Amino acid sequence: MAKTLKERDAEVIWHPYTQMKVWPEAIGITKGEGVYLIDEEGNQYLDAIASWWVNLHGHSHPYIAQRVSEQLIQLEHCIFAGFTHEPAVQLAERLLPLLPGQMKKVFYSDNGSTAVEVALKMAYQYWQNKGIDRKRIIALEGAYHGDTVGAMSVSARSLFTKKFDPLLFDVSFIPFPTEENCIASLKQILEKNDTAAIILEPLIQGSAGMRMYGAEALEEIITVCKQHDCLVIADEVMTGFGRTGTLFACDQLTKAEPDIICLSKGLTGGTLPLGVTTCTQDIYDAFLGDDGMTTLYHGHSFTANPIACTAALASLDLSLKDECIENIRRISDLHRTFLQTAKQHEKVLDARQCGTIIALELNTGNATSYLNQQRNFIYRFFLERKILMRPLGNIIYILPPYCITNEELSFIYEQIQALLEVI
Ligand SMILES: *Cc1c(COP(=O)(O)O)cnc(C)c1O
Repeated sequence: MAKTLKERDAEVIWHPYTQMKVWPEAIGITKGEGVYLIDEEGNQYLDAIASWWVNLHGHSHPYIAQRVSEQLIQLEHCIFAGFTHEPAVQLAERLLPLLPGQMKKVFYSDNGSTAVEVALKMAYQYWQNKGIDRKRIIALEGAYHGDTVGAMSVSARSLFTKKFDPLLFDVSFIPFPTEENCIASLKQILEKNDTAAIILEPLIQGSAGMRMYGAEALEEIITVCKQHDCLVIADEVMTGFGRTGTLFACDQLTKAEPDIICLSKGLTGGTLPLGVTTCTQDIYDAFLGDDGMTTLYHGHSFTANPIACTAALASLDLSLKDECIENIRRISDLHRTFLQTAKQHEKVLDARQCGTIIALELNTGNATSYLNQQRNFIYRFFLERKILMRPLGNIIYILPPYCITNEELSFIYEQIQALLEVI
């Protein structure tokens, strides 16, 4: 008999973030349709986490598929140094005015981690190009900005980074914004006058366990940074494109603005890898010069891939439709109602929401952590009920594609209630 996808996979594949000894078997997906992933045995999994936070409009969306296939026979790829193309230019033209702050230029790369690397290099070299000695980078405790070495350096020292800590560059970490000494600690560092930039996940730290803080706290951090000439990098890789209820998390700010924004994940609607780093005119201008010394020497083979840019353009069309905006509001409202009930349960230590994302911190009898022993039980519990939900330790969350129906959301809520009765 022919081997299954699952069996063939086990022979040749090494999966991300996976202890291959404990999880030797991957579910073989043969089709994606709307909020569902369909496996080789015909099981349909409800994708409650938008396939690692990337999918916005459902799987295999026909409109994105059509646009991508048209682009494939027009121009699949070309070098992006000295050459350009319509999808890259159009995407930049359309994105820049939509972004918070005064974003004037787009630098393309391949994913969230590279968008962060580019942002860090921009900020770090900006001061050197201006002949000013500012080299410190500030980040938030609990931060996650990606898995490449620079992105790991600005991420919290954790289980994920532990084996690489000696390789990581020094970063000043400040307490999470809900901690009362956050601002004091930030000011203390900024007063040294040597900070190049701060990088932060606006409103919600994803990987840290969907930890949330308010727009006012974000506003205060950015304002203090601006008073000390510190560049502000908003890592909107997860929060972009409606996740937090507004198109971008930084749209919830009234006065303060970031200088650099990183986008990826939902950028292409979850169809293709693409990263974007945007900056202000001031930052861009600091890289102009007559000798080669002020150039930003960074690029990837697939920088601004036309197919990925086209997927992003198509996804943007869908994101800006009234229907999508209405879906985001609908999901947020349903989450809010569910949260009120869930909060009451004795097994729920904390329940929180940021737009289309809700998270429940479960009391499993041991400490909140990524390696919480109940994690695998919870993951399997939902899989058995045909829901894809990957808990962050004892924290479960829903971060759905926007096309999820009320019935599908209710089904997930019901299964969460059922879980609360058995843990
Ligand atoms: C996922 C994520 C990244 C890294 O993106 P990749 O595409 O996985 O490299 C960076 N920042 C944030 C906030 C993220 O959620």
